[in-house]
Amino acid sequence: MGMWNRAAETMSRDEISRVQLEGVKKSLRRAWSNDFYSSRLKRAGFSAPEDFRSLDDLAKLPFMTKEDFREAYPLRMNCVPRADLREFHMSSGSTGTPVVMAYTKGDLLQWAECMARCFAMAGLEEGDAFQIMPTFGLFNGGFGCYHGCRKVGLFCVPASSGNTERQIKLMRDFRVKGFCSVVSYVPRIIEKLDAAPEGERDLPSLRVGIFGSETFSNELRRRIETRLGIECFDIYGMTETGGIGTTGQDCRAHCGIHVWEDQYITEIVDPSTGLPVEDGEYGEVVFTSLNREAMPVFRYRTHDISRIVSREKCACGRTSLRIDRITGRTDDMLIVKGVNFYPRQVEEALMEIPGVKDEFQIILEEHNGMTDVTVNVEADEGVTGHAVAKHLRERLGFLPKGDVFKPGTLPRSEGKAKRVIRKQV
Ligand SMILES: [Zn+2]
Repeated sequence: MGMWNRAAETMSRDEISRVQLEGVKKSLRRAWSNDFYSSRLKRAGFSAPEDFRSLDDLAKLPFMTKEDFREAYPLRMNCVPRADLREFHMSSGSTGTPVVMAYTKGDLLQWAECMARCFAMAGLEEGDAFQIMPTFGLFNGGFGCYHGCRKVGLFCVPASSGNTERQIKLMRDFRVKGFCSVVSYVPRIIEKLDAAPEGERDLPSLRVGIFGSETFSNELRRRIETRLGIECFDIYGMTETGGIGTTGQDCRAHCGIHVWEDQYITEIVDPSTGLPVEDGEYGEVVFTSLNREAMPVFRYRTHDISRIVSREKCACGRTSLRIDRITGRTDDMLIVKGVNFYPRQVEEALMEIPGVKDEFQIILEEHNGMTDVTVNVEADEGVTGHAVAKHLRERLGFLPKGDVFKPGTLPRSEGKAKRVIRKQV
């Protein structure tokens, strides 16, 4: 049920290992022709791609980082003739130098295959209407969804981002069954629906929401599912691995993200030492691509924090390993009074308080080497700042300051929500 590629998604452990070894060898042979890769591999002690003999050799490959992509801008990492390139996507980080991922025809097919598996896993079938809310452009989200829609045969509604009223009208008029967006946009949709006239407050055809590129709590997921009458899925992928959906999604059993193991090798490492951690322990997610042609990645450090949930066969029948939904980023971990926490944990704690809404802000103020934390949140009348602070202290281990605001009064963003604000005092 709901499986796009049964053979690939139900491989035995032995088959997966065989496919992964072949995939790394093939990728190394391709990368060796490019000086950018081969100089790094030589520095790590490889004199030829054939030095990679078994999957145990993976640990000998040097890590790749976002900095490698930036240094290689625009196409120094390209391993194929220029005439074989068909498309590229780009993301810009906080430092400004963009990260480019280029695609051959084969890479676009690989991306579409991964997206098709995600769509099928969410219960979408040929002919279903699907609304794409990520932007079409250099960002990979819009086109990634589009390539997947083409592969599965979905009826594509290429809405792109913004204009919430039109998004709702399109969903209603074209009887949209599924949509993809950033999760922080969904409260905008719900607000507009709540304010609509009687009889227009629901989207009866909608069944599936696919959310990427932001972490979100189980509680926010439950609220969205209940209000919209849909099932939520957490899709995973980034520019450097080839875009949205390339590294997996959760299935209908919702017990972790299935990584496409015939396409990527997953490692979880200690972010400070780079050494692998035990299954079940949190660490940084590291990916090695097995079928990417133009710009393969070897041991790419994502900065995403997760853990291996299971390598056993899932209730859905898939055999690929499952990692936890992303808890945070190694670089957005907050340390306050010696306590480590992630914005998502604040969200989880806030959503447990009855009457608290989906909008919140974490403000960090540094003075004299001390960090003061303020948590502002929207809530119904009757929710007191004292009650919020008390609950956060119980859950996070320290007492933040904070205020309770009327629903609709905290600043809104159209794209990714800006939850954490840093101030120097
Ligand atoms: Zn599953």
